[in-house]
Amino acid sequence: VAVLHSHLSDTERHGHWQQIASGRVQVVVGARSAIFAPVPHLGLIVIDEEHETTFKQETVPRYHARDVARRRAEMAGVPLVLGSATPTLEPWWRARQGRDVLLSLPRRVERRPLPPITLVDIRNDPHCRRGAAVGRALRTAMRQALDAGGQVILFLNVRGYSPAVWCRSCGRGVQCPNCDITLTWHQDRNAVLCHLCDFRADPPRACPECGQPGLRYLGVGTQKLEQEVQAQFPDYACQRMDSDTMRRHGSHDEALAAFRSGKVQILLGTQMIAKGLHFPNVTLVGVVDADTMLHQPDLRAAERTFQLIAQVAGRTGRSERGGRVLVQSACPTEPAIQLAVRHDYVTFAEWELKNRREAEAPPFRHLARIIVRSLEEKEAETAAHLIVQSLRHAIQRLNAPVDLLGPAPAPIFKQKKYFRFHLLLKA
Ligand SMILES: [Zn+2]
Ligand SMILES: [Zn+2]
Repeated sequence: VAVLHSHLSDTERHGHWQQIASGRVQVVVGARSAIFAPVPHLGLIVIDEEHETTFKQETVPRYHARDVARRRAEMAGVPLVLGSATPTLEPWWRARQGRDVLLSLPRRVERRPLPPITLVDIRNDPHCRRGAAVGRALRTAMRQALDAGGQVILFLNVRGYSPAVWCRSCGRGVQCPNCDITLTWHQDRNAVLCHLCDFRADPPRACPECGQPGLRYLGVGTQKLEQEVQAQFPDYACQRMDSDTMRRHGSHDEALAAFRSGKVQILLGTQMIAKGLHFPNVTLVGVVDADTMLHQPDLRAAERTFQLIAQVAGRTGRSERGGRVLVQSACPTEPAIQLAVRHDYVTFAEWELKNRREAEAPPFRHLARIIVRSLEEKEAETAAHLIVQSLRHAIQRLNAPVDLLGPAPAPIFKQKKYFRFHLLLKA
């Protein structure tokens, strides 16, 4: 068995690849790029947790491991197995059409029921109105679970202390000088940081736009949540897991070991704690803010929201102790959230397929986005228009069933000092 992952040195990787190519290895296990392993007699490809966004590589060479796997399986004439409790809509739609085979595993391990999920509307919650992250219902549930000797996982997909710094006078957010996003306050490092380009500065005393003092820190990140939980539950140990606390090599394993041994009763963190963890003593999972994914300018925002709630919910109810899940939301009527709370993937998939069909989005049409970026705004815009022109000519000449939208400024117009325009091809 060869295990391929991104922490291998070039020498180690080379050694593994030679072993694989020589046919001396029968099984290759690995992350995204393992799909290119030079297996001489391929017999089967399995992609587990196929919904994981990390299967898409966002840097050159850009590829999606699931699509590469499908092509490779076709070329080699071998089966491809995609596994997921919350499949992406592309393979689901193929299975619905009979192009792929759907195999359902409707029962959990040891026939345990799925944990009951309660949706909590926090719009009028007295704690949340005063700026707290944990509302009354979740706080009570935590108290009950902890006093009964259970453990608690709190999930919040926002790191830092406050995700936005706003000026009270002019109403503008304090932006990164290199990117069009607001800076996040990190209290433990006494700095404001950009989560896109790692720009770092001392917390500003006054608004950079209008010069007035009185900046406000808005919203809750994992650091602020940790502080709130420690203040509310001083008798219990709390561990935060996000990319800020887990920088040191080995810190990840240490944190999980402390939670497993029971030294830590409350584990809180970002998507790092959403997947795969198995702790039988966890009797309560709290999704602190189910809406963080919902408002992203992403055609998969609803799908991601559903997947996230379903995955986080799966962290409890893993032993005879049972478990429950509380999901806090300010948009409790959103179908993606309501259906996730009811564990109803099939209805969600049908609802979202209908939306995608109306929006002419995947899996009904192919989408490609071209981003043109330059340090000079004018240059990026001119180049984007030139590309659109030549594409329009090509589409006309070939009489191709392709729609071309744009160019337009990208949703994050400035990123890492680059000005960005994008155009969209639908085919
Ligand atoms: Zn201002
Ligand atoms: Zn930045």
